[in-house]
Order: sequence, then structure tokens, then C-alpha cells
Amino acid sequence: MKKVLWGKRELHLGVTVALFVFVLFTFLLSCNGTTATAQNQQKKKGDTTLQWLQQWKAGQEVSADAVRQFGVARCFAADTLTDAVFSRIWRKSYREGCTIARADLRYLRVLHVDGEGKTRTGEMICNRMIASDLVDIFRKLYEAHYPIQRMVLIDEYNADDETSMRANNSSCFNFRKVEGSKKLSKHARGMAVDINTLYNPCVKRMADGTLFVQPATGKPYINRNKQFPYKISKGDLLWRLFTSHGFKWGGSWQSLKDYQHFEK
Ligand SMILES: [Zn+2]
Repeated sequence: MKKVLWGKRELHLGVTVALFVFVLFTFLLSCNGTTATAQNQQKKKGDTTLQWLQQWKAGQEVSADAVRQFGVARCFAADTLTDAVFSRIWRKSYREGCTIARADLRYLRVLHVDGEGKTRTGEMICNRMIASDLVDIFRKLYEAHYPIQRMVLIDEYNADDETSMRANNSSCFNFRKVEGSKKLSKHARGMAVDINTLYNPCVKRMADGTLFVQPATGKPYINRNKQFPYKISKGDLLWRLFTSHGFKWGGSWQSLKDYQHFEK
């Protein structure tokens, strides 16, 4: 009997193998496509964040690649205030009647790592007397991945301390008086820095025994025996860096406890 070359079984087998090869080929092609798309997206993201570094747009997440391309040393600097920067603070933190000369202020750009481990661009205005201290401190905090959530000019909050603190923003210069007094604050001369302000509130015991907490939303963080993110404690890296540069910590004061505050 003549043998049929392609019996039903062989035909089935042939079709199955062809289908398998086709599916495998399509799968490999799509994998390659996905990788290429991911790489493109990554590259695009890197390019965008490089622009943020070049223009120094504070508060942005930047990629490690962009930081490498831009150069980490250029991310930590103190400059005099450009017109563009000054126009952001005029009639806000630099109010009319401000007693500190514009020439005595410095604009700092630094990188910091937030609580989720993301690298962000930061900015701060301080007195020129402490500018190099702060650049050095923030560089070391960045290298140690010490978490700081947000560091943009207080003018982004219309120079309103309470609003800036509620946003857990870290800041320095603000021409203002000490809350509830006629005395100028050390912030008015750019000689005091507030860090991770929501989680490190300022707590004052009033004459009637009640507690006055700033920001008001910082009440859950007045018990310093509790553990929570962004908490500043005596002896931690932030405390050691600031005190070794000659700053005093408000958390050590007796009259009131200002856990966010370091001044010179
Ligand atoms: Zn302060």
C-alpha cells in the first residue's frame, strides 16, 4: 500500500510546530519592543530631569543619570541673588523695610533625598556667613541619604511660615518677627534653618498650661519618644552636623522646644 507522505497526524504536528515557532517569534519581538520603549522612556525622563538641573527647578525628582551628566559638585553651590531669584522673594520673605542687604544673602542649590529615597533638587536662601556651612551640611546629608522631604523657598508659600511648615518644607531666610513678639527672628537675618518642619514642630507651654504648637498640624509629633519619619533627635546625623558647625538646636531649649530649628 502506498504510504501517504502527510498523514493527519503529521499534518497536526507540522501545524503545531509552525504555530509554536510563530508564537515564540512574536513573543521575542514584543519583548524587544518593550525593552526599547522602557529605555526610551527612561532616556526621556533623564533628559527632562537634566533640564531641571540646568535650570535648577527646585522640588523636582531627578534621575541618578541626570545628576551624573550634570555633575554632582555643581549641585551644591552658594551664589549671590540673581534678579530672577530676587523677584521671587521681593515683598514676600524680603519685605519692605528689610534690614538685611540683598548682598548679604546667598541662594543655595543642593540635592536632597526624600523619605521615599528619591533624589530631589532643593533651594534655600541664607546669610552669606553660614552659606558654606549649609552647603557642606546638605552635601553630607545627601551622601548619607538622610531624608529631607522638601526644600523650596518659603516664598512658594507666600512667605507664610505656618503654610510652609504644614507642607513639611525646610527653609531659612524670612524677614519676620519671632511668633508672638516684637523681636526679629534669626530667620530675618538668614541665620536660622528649619528642617522637616511638620514632623519637628515648635512647642511652647503657655501661662495657662496649654501647649501652643507650630504648625498646628504638627501636634501628632510633639511626643518625642514616639518613632516617626523625618524626626530629628539629639545625637542623630543632622544634629551632629549642625552642632559641629557651631549651630544651636532649638530642641535643647528649656523655655520652648523648637525641634526643627538650628541657629547661629
Ligand atoms: Zn526656626
